[in-house]
Amino acid sequence: MKIHEYQAKELLERYGVRTQSGHLAQTPTQAGEAYTRLGGELAVIKAQIHAGGRGKGGGVKLVRSRSEAEEVAHEILGMNLVTHQTGPDGIQVQNVFVAEGLELEEEYYVAIALDRSQGNPVLMVSREGGVEIESLAEERPEAILKLPFSPTGGLQDHQARRASYFLGFKGELAKQAGKILHGLARVWVDLDCELAEINPLVKTSQGELVALDAKMSFDGNALFRHPNIAGMRDPNEEDPREVEASRYGLSYIALNGSIGCMVNGAGLAMATMDNIKNHGASPANFLDVGGGADEETISHAFRIVLTDPSVKGILVNIFGGIMKCDIIARGILAAAKKVELKVPLVVRLEGTRVDEGRAILEESGLDITPASSLDEGARLVCEAVGEKA
Ligand code: GDP
Ligand code: MN
Repeated sequence: MKIHEYQAKELLERYGVRTQSGHLAQTPTQAGEAYTRLGGELAVIKAQIHAGGRGKGGGVKLVRSRSEAEEVAHEILGMNLVTHQTGPDGIQVQNVFVAEGLELEEEYYVAIALDRSQGNPVLMVSREGGVEIESLAEERPEAILKLPFSPTGGLQDHQARRASYFLGFKGELAKQAGKILHGLARVWVDLDCELAEINPLVKTSQGELVALDAKMSFDGNALFRHPNIAGMRDPNEEDPREVEASRYGLSYIALNGSIGCMVNGAGLAMATMDNIKNHGASPANFLDVGGGADEETISHAFRIVLTDPSVKGILVNIFGGIMKCDIIARGILAAAKKVELKVPLVVRLEGTRVDEGRAILEESGLDITPASSLDEGARLVCEAVGEKA
């Protein structure tokens, strides 16, 4: 789960990291008030969306008066901000962070990410901040220092010193950097982060190190340990279907293709999507109904898949174990009573109570194409939407 820059900055401050301070605003008037409260001449209006690259997209602007703060906030609030991380549709800006304007001398990159192959957090620093780290990693990997550390032992002093030296800090700056690096490492471990990134960390003309930007994401499976962070979820930033599905304990993932997939189990979801690809189409989503869902939940699940406008055909692929095929069939019928079935539906059922399940669908009068194997099901649904390989 991701949070906004202003929320990430609040968390970092609690861990002793000096961040660019500011106030949240939802209207131009509030932005003007925030400007005055900050008390300086220079301020920055920053769009709050869950994506980087806001500066280039026109979502970060410097202002020098209260009226300019109001004007710029008026421009940014409500705009559809498109960056390299938002996709072509962009994200509508609902809030701006009005931050103190700083005079920058240098910009650095500092982040801690999860190295999944090593099973460790890894500290990454570079003297080239403010740029896209992915392209830097590709073009000049030597410009990034990576230091893995143990989540139980934490970031070691010698590692923080090495990172600070790599960034070129000495004396007072090295002291500040040590505090920031240790704070970032503690925040990452304590709060079960996936990513905690400061890009850029800046050196101001007053010789102070400040986190100018902050980006954080958290392990969704650990959120139950951090109710205050779970409370920072912004549904406006998420696919409304994913939000709705999570309400019923279902996992729904939106993708870019045209076939809606309802499956049980993540492994079966992967196999189903591979088969659809093999037969020439792409999945529009997959909805994993898991093992313990009842008829009503299945009905919600099917409705969520059915109401996705990018879905041109649906493949239901269920291997009944704990999940019973007749429950799936009844759930599909219940949903089809509420939402008209306008796209081709291919159903492959196998396993527990499969005969009952098939009979229910057959007698329903719904226009359903049965399939006897996953391969056949994938082929039939690809044919039905006219995207056969
Ligand atoms: P991002 O584009 O989404 O990564 O947003 P950032 O918060 O990183 O801001 C983008 C850029 O705006 C930074 O890299 C800075 O160059 C610039 N910027 C942001 N705040 C300030 C500020 O207080 N003073 C100055 N001079 N530039 C700023
Ligand atoms: Mn940034």
